[in-house]
Amino acid sequence: MSDAVLRLSHLNKRFGALQATRDVCLDLRPGEIHALIGPNGAGKSTLIGQIAGSLRPDSGSIHLAGREVTSLSVAQRARLGLGRSFQVSSLAEPLSVRRNVMIAVQALQGHSFRFWKPVNRDESLLAPAQEALARMGLTRRADTPVAELSHGERRQVEMACALALKPRVLLLDEPMAGLGPEGTAHLTELLEALKHEVPILLIEHDMDAVFRLADRISVLVAGAVIAHGDAAAIRTNPHVREAYLGE
Ligand code: ADP
Ligand code: MG
Repeated sequence: MSDAVLRLSHLNKRFGALQATRDVCLDLRPGEIHALIGPNGAGKSTLIGQIAGSLRPDSGSIHLAGREVTSLSVAQRARLGLGRSFQVSSLAEPLSVRRNVMIAVQALQGHSFRFWKPVNRDESLLAPAQEALARMGLTRRADTPVAELSHGERRQVEMACALALKPRVLLLDEPMAGLGPEGTAHLTELLEALKHEVPILLIEHDMDAVFRLADRISVLVAGAVIAHGDAAAIRTNPHVREAYLGE
């Protein structure tokens, strides 16, 4: 209980008449992948927005490593270790994979006094970038311009950007989307290894990947968690089968 790295307590969020988040309680523990599943419009991205800080809950609280972050900004949460995979559009196409990850580190550090210094020689940027690239299996591609990467490799770069910031937790919103079977299998392997270093809150539509990866699963329907358990329990839960798996 007390060792949760991330804890959501009784979160509520409305968009006008629509209750997008209903009394959601959820936690993420060290070493685990906790998957959040649910049909389209269930409120998964809205929940991620509240955790990351781009959306403010109407009520409830969010704790990161024991500290309440409910009213902190996105940047403050990021500095406290809330990692989120970057959007594809945030990568600089002409620049190398390594340079992109270094820029992400620099952006988080926010040290404007570094601006005079060439980014590519700054050890404090290079070291975490190299380490993150290795963890995402991208060392071989470090000098390649992002423009030349496959969709799956871009996803890996986005994750390397998040990892280079040494997050305490990682939020991933549909990382497998558009990857195809091979890319999905590869990313599944990477996440399986990664979870021991940084616990992952995973939103994913690919149910094979979810059942393979998740230590625990929470099922969100119409903004509320309707079921919670390990893969075996969720697979056989009659409410889940009815509400989500379409049976
Ligand atoms: P999911 O990620 O599970 O598909 P979302 O969190 O994106 O679901 O959306 C949950 C519900 O909230 C949907 O009905 C969606 O239309 C609505 N919604 C999401 N964001 C907003 C917003 N900024 N303003 C109004 N309604 C929103
Ligand atoms: Mg979504």
